[in-house]
Amino acid sequence: MQASVQSGPLDSLEQWDDDVKSRYKEGREEADFRDFSKAPPGVREFYRLNHTHQTHEFAKAKAREYGALTRSKMGIWEAMEYLNTLVDDSDPDTDLSQIEHNLQTAEALRRDGEPRWMILTGLIHDLGKVLWLYGEPQWAVVGDTFPTGCAWSDKIVHHEFFRDNPDAGVAEYQTPEGVYEPGGGISQVAMSWGHDEYLYLVTRDYLPEPAQYIVRYHSFYPAHRERAYGHLMNDRDREMFEWVRKFNPYDLYSKGHAKPDAVALRPYYEELIAEYFPGRIAW
Ligand code: FE
Ligand code: FE
Repeated sequence: MQASVQSGPLDSLEQWDDDVKSRYKEGREEADFRDFSKAPPGVREFYRLNHTHQTHEFAKAKAREYGALTRSKMGIWEAMEYLNTLVDDSDPDTDLSQIEHNLQTAEALRRDGEPRWMILTGLIHDLGKVLWLYGEPQWAVVGDTFPTGCAWSDKIVHHEFFRDNPDAGVAEYQTPEGVYEPGGGISQVAMSWGHDEYLYLVTRDYLPEPAQYIVRYHSFYPAHRERAYGHLMNDRDREMFEWVRKFNPYDLYSKGHAKPDAVALRPYYEELIAEYFPGRIAW
């Protein structure tokens, strides 16, 4: 099945993932050595659109819209297969399908003896990318996420593009706390809209708390890699973000060249899925 989706500046959604990976080369903690001029123009344009259009109102409106969970009913594996229709044929040799990225992340966690809920989280963490198949633009599906309704940290990649965001003119949104209670917890914060927040809304009733944090904040690089936004967090967040940090290398660096055998692995994962999820859930 070839789904019809919005085109955008990225050749594929994975081009954003690849960009993040090159920014955080394995073992490197700081982003300062990155030469942005080497990023393809499409990637730059992608960040420009993302930073220009992700306003506080937009983030809240999308969370309301999709939070109703009236889009469809799908099982987890079914959603993986649906998402797999997203694989683009522009780069057939090196690009793994979505199912393969999911399986590689999960398999790397499994090899390291991580808990079953975390292996499951590796499997599902990117399923929110079905937003793209629903027709959302790339800048509302992927990208480093950030809080809206308060000042943008200068740790956010391509911070300069926020100058064209309408929220730049809203004084209330331009203080460090913005509309939020200092230290009131990150869950009160309307994050920029994308696949993380959507999947969180879909799966939150079924997953243990650390898994919910991983799903919801795995693209929140300004916090989990750059340590910004500590002033919005509470002690629970700080504890839970250690799981998000633990998860991140599996997301970024588990891409290998050997394709996981989805057919052979499916029975193991169907059993794992069934431990946490009913046959079908609301999306
Ligand atoms: Fe992701
Ligand atoms: Fe991922």
